[in-house]
Amino acid sequence: MPRKNKPHCAFCGREDVFLMNGLESDVYICPDCVKEAQKVVEMMQPVAQANGDKSALKGLNLKTLPRPHDIKAYLDQYVIGQDEAKRTLSVAVYNHYKRLLQPADDNEVEIEKSNIIIVGPTGTGKTLLARSIAKMLEVPFAMVDATVLTQAGYVGEDVESLLSRLLQACDYDVDRAQTGIVFIDEIDKIARKGDNPSITRDVSGEGVQQALLKLLEGSIVNVPPQGGRKHPEQEFIHVDTTKILFICGGAFDGIDRQIALRLNKKVVGFSATEQRQSSPDKQLEDMYQYVSPQDLRSFGLIPEIVGRLPVITYLQPLGREALRNILTEPKNAIVKQYQKLLMMDGIQLDFDDDALDYVVDKALEYKLGARGLRSLMETVMKEVLFDAPSQKEKTFRVTREYAKQRI
Ligand code: ADP
Repeated sequence: MPRKNKPHCAFCGREDVFLMNGLESDVYICPDCVKEAQKVVEMMQPVAQANGDKSALKGLNLKTLPRPHDIKAYLDQYVIGQDEAKRTLSVAVYNHYKRLLQPADDNEVEIEKSNIIIVGPTGTGKTLLARSIAKMLEVPFAMVDATVLTQAGYVGEDVESLLSRLLQACDYDVDRAQTGIVFIDEIDKIARKGDNPSITRDVSGEGVQQALLKLLEGSIVNVPPQGGRKHPEQEFIHVDTTKILFICGGAFDGIDRQIALRLNKKVVGFSATEQRQSSPDKQLEDMYQYVSPQDLRSFGLIPEIVGRLPVITYLQPLGREALRNILTEPKNAIVKQYQKLLMMDGIQLDFDDDALDYVVDKALEYKLGARGLRSLMETVMKEVLFDAPSQKEKTFRVTREYAKQRI
């Protein structure tokens, strides 16, 4: 024990070490205890943050809520085109907030959630839209790939793991998770394959849909905290999914033909006059806008799931102009990213317009869509990124010739 009047660390009691005291205070602390205290502070930080974030939702009110126009304007900064889907999502998110703000004791009209499904070819911005929404949201958000889900008993994850991700997104604050938004990507991959002879049979598709239904409908679900597969000895967290908004996305390969069939539009072998107006590809692309619940059912989603996804919206395949804009327009456009990278080496990077046109042509030629733009640009830039930082020249210009050579 320290002697009464000798300076000592008030935490561990040691006397013969370097000691610090506060201003005009005779209470001391030693460096080791400072380190220990720091560890405790770091450990407590996530908890403090989680509690702090809680007020984010409480701080929301009808006046400060972002309106659909605001939400769309935000999405416009990151996503090119796809106006229809942006409008639908903006309204859905706005309504989601309003639903959260409705008084609990209001037993007049209860605003129910309307889950959404986005249909669109791969690489047209589904994930990007979801990510951009997540960035601006003040509610917990989780994005999950439906392909990892399997019916209970198969290798994979139970559907409840969707909610584990949501819980992780808000430090296991169940109240907040229950107000969150879940984006389920590649929902088409769990379609029942029976009605679609072109794809091989998948036994677990319908089972996953049945399990998912429970979540979409709104019920109390037992969620394994760490996700993955449930097992009997595990402790579960009970999550009520009534208020959780589900947004599903899928490419639904081949649905364009199905829509065309339903609409009685002959896409292949149409009359000569029509042929002159647009190519079969173009005609198929135009079909997405007519997508209906019926088409989702014929694709292999069970009617109950389709019924629980009342808002259907679509993404259009990206044309030449959209692809060209994607290179330069979004807030974090690919071109801007390369420029920033080289700017950090003090190098100014410029692209000739026709060089970018060339990249777009190639993306169209290889039918790679927006996804291909990045890999093509990476091919063009590979050498520049390697050489430029060690060279004296402080500018670099990518010409069409250069791009052609590289690709
Ligand atoms: P999906 O989920 O529809 O398959 P993604 O959203 O993952 O496609 O898009 C693939 C890539 O293409 C991303 O890098 C994204 O930045 C870009 N991209 C796709 N669509 C758009 C768009 N409409 N506007 C801007 N970038 C886009």
